[in-house]
Amino acid sequence: MFARVIVDIANSNVDRLFTYRIPEELDVRTGHRVLVPFGRSNKPTEGFVTELTDVIEADFEIKSIIKTLEPYTALLPDQLELAKWIARAYDCTLCDALRLMLPAEMRGRRVKEKTVRTVAIPDGLDTESARGSLLNKDGTPRSLKQLEVFDLAVKIGAPVSVPDINAYIPSASSAVSALISKGLLAEQGRTEFRSPFINKVARDEPPVLTPAQKSAAEAVAEGRPGEVFLLFGVTGSGKTEVYLNAIQKVLEEGGGAIVLVPEISLTPQTTDRFRKRFGDTVAVMHSHLSAGERFDEWRRLRLGKARVVVGARSAVFAPIEDLRLIIIDEEHEPSYRSENKPCYSADEVAIRRIRLTGGRLVLGSATPQLVSYLRAKQGAYRLLELPERINGIPMPEVEIVDMRSEFMSGNNGIFSRSLSEKLRKCVENGEQAILFLNRRGYSYHGECRVCGHVFTCPNCDVALTYHKFDSTLRCHYCGHVQRVPKECPSCGSKFIKYSGIGTQQVEEQLKTLIPNVRCLRMDTDTTGGKTAHRDILDCFAGGGADVLIGTQMVAKGLDIKGVTLVGVVSADASLFHSDYRSGERTFQLLTQVAGRAGRAPVGGEIKKGMVVIQTNSPGHRAVRLAARHDYKAFFELEIKDRLRTLFPPFAVFARALFEMSEEKSAAAASDDFAVKAADALKKALLPLDAENEILFITAGPAPIRRREGLYRYSVIIKLVRAKNTSTAINALRQLADGVRMEGFRGLEINPNDLL
Ligand code: ADP
Ligand code: ZN
Ligand code: ZN
Repeated sequence: MFARVIVDIANSNVDRLFTYRIPEELDVRTGHRVLVPFGRSNKPTEGFVTELTDVIEADFEIKSIIKTLEPYTALLPDQLELAKWIARAYDCTLCDALRLMLPAEMRGRRVKEKTVRTVAIPDGLDTESARGSLLNKDGTPRSLKQLEVFDLAVKIGAPVSVPDINAYIPSASSAVSALISKGLLAEQGRTEFRSPFINKVARDEPPVLTPAQKSAAEAVAEGRPGEVFLLFGVTGSGKTEVYLNAIQKVLEEGGGAIVLVPEISLTPQTTDRFRKRFGDTVAVMHSHLSAGERFDEWRRLRLGKARVVVGARSAVFAPIEDLRLIIIDEEHEPSYRSENKPCYSADEVAIRRIRLTGGRLVLGSATPQLVSYLRAKQGAYRLLELPERINGIPMPEVEIVDMRSEFMSGNNGIFSRSLSEKLRKCVENGEQAILFLNRRGYSYHGECRVCGHVFTCPNCDVALTYHKFDSTLRCHYCGHVQRVPKECPSCGSKFIKYSGIGTQQVEEQLKTLIPNVRCLRMDTDTTGGKTAHRDILDCFAGGGADVLIGTQMVAKGLDIKGVTLVGVVSADASLFHSDYRSGERTFQLLTQVAGRAGRAPVGGEIKKGMVVIQTNSPGHRAVRLAARHDYKAFFELEIKDRLRTLFPPFAVFARALFEMSEEKSAAAASDDFAVKAADALKKALLPLDAENEILFITAGPAPIRRREGLYRYSVIIKLVRAKNTSTAINALRQLADGVRMEGFRGLEINPNDLL
């Protein structure tokens, strides 16, 4: 027998199958990782077996596989097929695609199984006489410690780890060794799975589903293999409960499920909801796991000890046999699109994967991507709706405050009179509030009042943010930190003005407004430690604070019952990015934050949640319609605009980015690429008579012209989405593949942002 092997080397020159002989004594199957001699020097190299064959046509010597790296196959059949598709769809090597399926540290054996040394009384040992051998003639112990350890081992009567013995009998290790060498204890190893869960959870019972939840869950259960559902449910409508129910059914049938959650809301609060229902069959995958935890959670899934994974984007590749369901919660989140090569979209991958396994996919959101809702309307996805909140709890009431008229009437603080008033009342009544602002730090713009000098990052083309608590100016793009200057470096004046509000300032102002308020702040500055995120949320959920202030982190998926008031300190911070999606993003963000208010009865009484949105553009469509919870109206207006102006989903953006230390080279490289791209596109589209599908090709500096010391120039290409789009994109990809220039960041299709 022979095996075709992809060597685990990320180089397009070796991106093909190599044939190896399988030695008699080895059990090698498709999907195994193997060690093979590779290259002229026969260097032992890791590889993946992608197929077996008994016929080969070769006139050269066939080398033999050295060994399998794991006793089990590391790749499931559908993962292998999925990888082949990814290599084609996202234009990467098969090796790159296969690597997505495994914890990175598995390669090169950088992480190993954890074995704990255990000891036990050897089988068949006569414990009576053995004990005697540990005593002197007069019955006193020869070594008190050895006797104690021996007695303990007899009493336990099962393998026990050395650390556990040490817990009873301090410093017992050498006594254990002595007993082993006398043959009175037998040594064994036990493998252990490192667990990322620090707490135990009690199991809960599923609630009785509402009629809307029930029909949604039934539709999913009865779905066709490969069917995609869009679960469009307002915030607090019980989408998670629909997911749990669908998973339950899948588990009962013996299958497995994947639940994707945005990294930012992958909190213990979220994972615990799944663990409470399904216990140890739940594994998690996210970037905060240690290498050992990631490997062991992966193995628990691969070995079938866990059959549900809750994870971030990359969990879409989790090794689950008989995968029958994938759920993507908050499907509109940009974090589902990878920005590193291969730049895959979790939803596209999920659609492919369920087609391979015959499973179903549920996309859930209160604010679906425009393109998802469009597909649902056109019938490509099946639309399921949860139009109301659970238990007849009303949607929160939203007030829009025009901060310009607030200023005109003499209030130049950061809280409007209405929000101040409501905050005071809320705290007085012992209820909780969330204040949201999309910027951390104290203020983000420092300027000299005399000469106008603006404090910008020395490495990037962006203003530095003032952090008051440690008197620093920080760059949020590259991490540059400097002390707050006492005087202007340009003219020496002492008059420096800081403007623009950040979360730290909100905290300070809140404490002035309500002197004894208990508040917590959650942003990247306060959530550094491994459990900081959890600690803050636990504290708030347990009533340990009146107000939680935060960035995006507080907007997503929090389900805290005492919250009756949500204040959006400024809705403008996200409105006016120079991005065609800013309206869509603002609508999503406002709807999500507003959805945190009034989600459950407080003290047995249903209280309508209250939301105050402060803005300088109260007439903006995204603000107005988010305040009315009217996604459908927003969708209709926005999609018409996109069609009229030809923006995605009716067009495709491609961006090629160059980042170089010399501005001239970056500019020249992008100009050159633009010319070649125009050529390549014409060549590809001309025979199809589709040249008019190229809307524009422009080269120039990126909106953030300099970042981390590098000048950034890009080429942006806009194409009409039509039946020739893939031909055009392939032509661009080929062109990009040929660029062997340091500083070329590759070609991205519809990147998350154009900054
Ligand atoms: P969503 O994910 O749509 O925002 P959740 O699933 O978090 O909504 O549900 C909101 C709240 O309602 C949660 O506290 C949840 O426990 C509760 N809930 C959901 N479904 C039911 C039900 N059928 N009966 C009682 N409570 C429910
Ligand atoms: Zn100055
Ligand atoms: Zn910087």
